Amino acid sequence: MPPLYGGIEAGGTKFVCAVGHGPDALLDEVRIPTTTPEETLARVVAFFRPYGAELCAVGIASFGPVDVRPGSPTYGFITTTPKPGWAHTPIVHIVAEALNVPVGFDTDVNGAALGEHLWGAGRGLDAFLYLTVGTGIGGGGLVNGKRLHGLLHPEMGHMRLPHDRERDPFPGLCPFHGDCLEGLASGPAIEARWGRPPHTLPPDHPAWALEAEYLGIALANLTFVFSPQRLVVGGGVMQPPHLWPQVRAAFVRALGNYVDLPALGQHVEDYLVPPHLGPRAGVLGAIALAVEAARGDTSTA
Ligand code: ZN
Repeated sequence: MPPLYGGIEAGGTKFVCAVGHGPDALLDEVRIPTTTPEETLARVVAFFRPYGAELCAVGIASFGPVDVRPGSPTYGFITTTPKPGWAHTPIVHIVAEALNVPVGFDTDVNGAALGEHLWGAGRGLDAFLYLTVGTGIGGGGLVNGKRLHGLLHPEMGHMRLPHDRERDPFPGLCPFHGDCLEGLASGPAIEARWGRPPHTLPPDHPAWALEAEYLGIALANLTFVFSPQRLVVGGGVMQPPHLWPQVRAAFVRALGNYVDLPALGQHVEDYLVPPHLGPRAGVLGAIALAVEAARGDTSTA
């Protein structure tokens, strides 16, 4: 029998848990609403418990901020989240103790990046990034084949962008920065600016050109800073197909012909791509963290 892994995609509104051997062999999956840590994690543990000794590791890809620094006294904690009740939750400890298995742990976006690296759009690449644009904006990735950490972990959604207040008087809604990327371009920002949720806006609505502009600039910044070999962009806001050509065009404009490579010009549709693993990128990312934990590999960049 191939080894059996558990994945926990820990989100602010729901936890998605799955067991399986990999992307083509998921045996069971459950969605649990995020309530209190006690109630939610008890249901998570109850989902995995029947697999008992068959389960060789579990991965947790979590909303943040989280402590991912090995050796830190609060390693494996959800730390200062504004989500009520969840600050300072030792999520790794709780799951490891209840299930008695190795637990891999990272941010939701680093998890998704790792899943794409093992099975999706990042296969064979040493340096690539994953950005999700939805209720929030977050990014993760791998550099030199290792998950990107550092002082803590990247917070790409909070990068600052040029904000032309004549074109876009909306002040932004990030509680920390106002008009950072997440404050200007997340799903809730689009809804607050235009008074309607993104999925109800027609393709010719000016919301999309503005959205593409912000994302194009942000993605160009990421290319300049990290030099990824590919950029994967997921999340609910990226679902409409008409948005993709606009984002790619805005990205190429923002690069300003500075780097002369086909991937950043005529072949940009192979460079700026949706997740290969589709809507399952999140939970498969958690399973990818379990695969690494089972190998005893928690190495990070
Ligand atoms: Zn911010």
